[in-house]
Amino acid sequence: MKAIVCGAGIAGLAAAGRLHHHGWEVLVVDSAPRPRGQGYMIDFFGPGFQAITAMGLLPQLREVASPVDELRYIDGHGRTTVSVAYSRFTKALDGEVVSIMRPALEQMLRDALPDDVELRFGTTIDRIDDDAVELSDGTVTDADLVVGADGIHSRVRSLVFGPERDDLRPLGMHTGAFVFTDPELHQQVRQQFVLTETLNRQIGLYGIGEDQVAVFAVHRTADLSLPADPRRTLQSEYQGMGDLAERALAQCPPSDEIYYDLVAQIDTPRWHTDRVVLIGDAAHAVSLVAGQGASLGVAGAYVLAERLSRAATVAEGLADYERLWRPTAGGIQASARDRAADWFVPTTTTKLLLRRWGFRAMRLPGLDKILVGPLFPKDHRTVAELVA
Ligand SMILES: Cc1cc2nc3c(=O)[nH]c(=O)nc-3n(C[C@H](O)[C@H](O)[C@H](O)COP(=O)(O)OP(=O)(O)OC[C@H]3O[C@@H](n4cnc5c(N)ncnc54)[C@H](O)[C@@H]3O)c2cc1C
Repeated sequence: MKAIVCGAGIAGLAAAGRLHHHGWEVLVVDSAPRPRGQGYMIDFFGPGFQAITAMGLLPQLREVASPVDELRYIDGHGRTTVSVAYSRFTKALDGEVVSIMRPALEQMLRDALPDDVELRFGTTIDRIDDDAVELSDGTVTDADLVVGADGIHSRVRSLVFGPERDDLRPLGMHTGAFVFTDPELHQQVRQQFVLTETLNRQIGLYGIGEDQVAVFAVHRTADLSLPADPRRTLQSEYQGMGDLAERALAQCPPSDEIYYDLVAQIDTPRWHTDRVVLIGDAAHAVSLVAGQGASLGVAGAYVLAERLSRAATVAEGLADYERLWRPTAGGIQASARDRAADWFVPTTTTKLLLRRWGFRAMRLPGLDKILVGPLFPKDHRTVAELVA
């Protein structure tokens, strides 16, 4: 059985590895000319952590994870307003969480792929018919399964399930992320998440490696178009947020080295046909405010491959995957919209203070678990239960 996976991101690589494990011949195509270097820090926990463990990749994940000691909010003068030892989150999640740069997670998944999984960069899918798949490099081939793992702006989704405008649900924010080298600033934010405590916009810094700083920025805006020059937009939108933010913005790299996009979710009525299926952000982007998109990408890929391996036909496996996985992804999407967005980027001083008190409360014994509870849908089932 042959599968073509479109997208060598977190979800696509996880799917490729697991499909191969179950005996599939796998070709992965990705439109980027090479693996993406740009990235941001990811908290990886929940269903994806369970799936990585089930795939036997937990030692590798822990090895490439970035250590974090503390999360701290600062005011416009650089003074800490609230800080929480990261061990509080770790404990609340029973140790099942790591922080990791997105490119490092992708590299780990790529390294885990057997040699006979072909990775073809600079290539996409141009056409999917009943009997053929045409690639942009001119190859016309057939496949028993086509997996759309090509992210929030999925081409497979557009080709097979309909235009993006029908499925994209903007959350009224833009986000940008970049990395730069600054040994002095690195020392100030080393092994910490340092976030500005601000209304309607936020900058976060994290010191990685020996001398680098990873930055992510998010601001509220009703604008649905993306700027022609993200660097200039970041430098003007985030002015006046204190010295650390100013210093980071001054070192913002050229626009083609910046990740920049709308903060949005994907809500599409169908994820599969008889042999085409969507996974990860292509199917159910939850947005950065949910903090679980990567985790869901890996877990969804795992559930897909396991259900296919248990089903009599591909069509049956795809239907099982969608039926079982949709409630988890949909539940996390809803909680991101209803609760996490206001917590992540507060719009009023009251909401900002509530968040501050919430973090302070995390220091109290017993309250840490109550605070991570809203991250998961009420009836959430473990990955092991979903594939049993
Ligand atoms: C600032 C920020 C912080 C985040 N923090 C977290 C976090 O803390 N925890 C968490 O779990 N998630 C987090 N996320 C979300 C997470 O990064 C995404 O949900 C995750 O990367 C989705 O993985 P994916 O493989 O589905 O898609 P993507 O990562 O978007 O990968 C898609 C792949 O498909 C390729 N591609 C795109 N178009 C095509 C095409 N036409 N043809 C072929 N290939 C194509 C791309 O090159 C890419 O390799 C964050 C996101 C952002 C922006």
